[in-house]
Order: sequence, then structure tokens, then C-alpha cells
Amino acid sequence: MATTYPLVARQPRAPRASVSIGDSSIGPDTTTLIAGPCAVETPEQTLRAARMAQAAGATVLRGGAYKPRTSPYAFQGLGERGLAILTEVAAETGLPLVTEVVDARDAELVAAHADMLQIGARNMQNFGLLTAVGKIGKPVLLKRGMSATIEEWLLAAEYIAKQGTIDIVLCERGIRTYEPAYRNTLDIAAVPTVQRLSQLPVLVDPSHSGGRRDLVLPLTRAALAAGADGVLVDVHPDPEAALCDGPQALRPGDLEGLQNAMRDMAFVMNRRIPVPEPEQRFRTDIESATH
Ligand code: PEP
Ligand code: MN
Repeated sequence: MATTYPLVARQPRAPRASVSIGDSSIGPDTTTLIAGPCAVETPEQTLRAARMAQAAGATVLRGGAYKPRTSPYAFQGLGERGLAILTEVAAETGLPLVTEVVDARDAELVAAHADMLQIGARNMQNFGLLTAVGKIGKPVLLKRGMSATIEEWLLAAEYIAKQGTIDIVLCERGIRTYEPAYRNTLDIAAVPTVQRLSQLPVLVDPSHSGGRRDLVLPLTRAALAAGADGVLVDVHPDPEAALCDGPQALRPGDLEGLQNAMRDMAFVMNRRIPVPEPEQRFRTDIESATH
């Protein structure tokens, strides 16, 4: 079958691909939880958020040092200092790290700190950035642009693959519609559609989809029920004080619900859930896990 994205297209009669990051694998057999703060703010906040992620069962840490903000007056991230904090926290927790690159000139620098490079929604069609990141050779997390069609999204993945990087994970994060009651509209049909069209793993970001904390668990369940290979979730030890996206961040008290939703949906979908080490299992006394 002729396709405009031959490298990332679903291969006939072949299983969908898995992508490895550290000891973690994202693909058709598992339900992966990637979690962490939206943005790196301080070493303490980042470590506490990473411990929260771990307590909920996350096997990959997320967190932004370079933030693509709609307003030039909003917090832009700590940049290189944020990368150093992320590297320390990743080492301290043993979690592999995914973090965003917003400028092609920073691709090598970010890659020196990260296990996986994130391309954000606002940069999905930044072709110079896609090309630069594709040349690095590390796995890439490619978010869907908020107004991008599925074909445009897969063509963006093809830009990365064309440079030799086929370890790409797609992430549906909600699209812009006429509905203002939530931040974006999670396009749930995109999950099975992209899995039919492409061999790449597909995650859902329920945090940026809804933009509201109360939507994170329902959207997580919906994503996994639709067949997503995992979710990407914002957590923060003190969302009221967050410099970015506080209203959507899960709090320490929300983590048990997240862990339960992951476990229940993995069971329903007959997938494995990566099992955390016993000492990393959920603790109700989350504060003690942060020191
Ligand atoms: C993020 O994950 O931190 C982010 C900025 O998301 P998006 O690009 O989907 O808006
Ligand atoms: Mn965010």
C-alpha cells in the first residue's frame, strides 16, 4: 500500500513496535506511566515530584527545563540549570528522563542530559527541530500539534525517522475545538486510528488534554480503554505554588487513585504494568518518600 510516511507506517502482518527508555519499554504489551512536574522550578520541587511519580508507579520521569509558553512574560523554564537539576534527580531516583527541546540549537545539549527528547505540541511542525532531533539517535516523544491532523502528525514523525531515528513514541495531548469548558478536547479516536496507520507506540497526556486535575483520572482510564500504550501525567508537590500548569497537576493525595487506575486498566486490557521495586510502592506518607 502506498503511503506518504513509509518509515513510520504500520507494517502489514507485523506487531506494533516497542520503544525502550532505560529499563522501561513503551509498546503494545505494557501500560507505561510517565510522570513528573510540568516544569523544573527548584531542586527540591523536582525531587519531590519525581518521588511522587515513582510512588504512583511511573517508570519514566518527565519535566521541562525549556518551556514553550504562549506568553513571552510567562516562566520560560530554567534552561541549562534545569537540565542539571533533572539529571541529578533522575540519577537519585534511578528513573530515565524525558524532557523537551524547543530549539534546534539546544538539541545536542538536551540530549546530553536526557534519555528521550520531547517535541512539544507547538513545535510539531518545526521541521528544523524535527530534523535536528532525528539526527541525535535518542528516542523521541512526539506530541500532536493542537491543530494538526493525524496525517500531519505522522508526517512529522516521518521527518524524524528520515534522519535515522525510528524509536519514536507519539503522544495525543488534546486538540483545539470550540469547547472552552476544558483546555483541549482529548481526541480519543486518534489512539486506535494512529495504531492502525502506524507501527509507533501511542501515549495520551490526560493532563494537557483537559487542563484540569479532576479530568486526569477519567481521561487516563479512557485513554487506556481506547488502547493507549500509556499516559504522561503532570504531578506537583504543591500545585498552588506551581510556576506552570498548576491546575492540572496531581497532588500527593491523588497518586493512589492514579496508581489504582493504571493497575485496573492494565488488568482490563490484559497488559503488563511495570512493577516498581517494593520500596518504591505507594506510600500514603508521601513526605517521608521525599527525603
Ligand atoms: C508539556 O508536556 O510540558 C507540554 C508543554 O505539553 P504540550 O506540548 O502538549 O502543550
Ligand atoms: Mn505543561
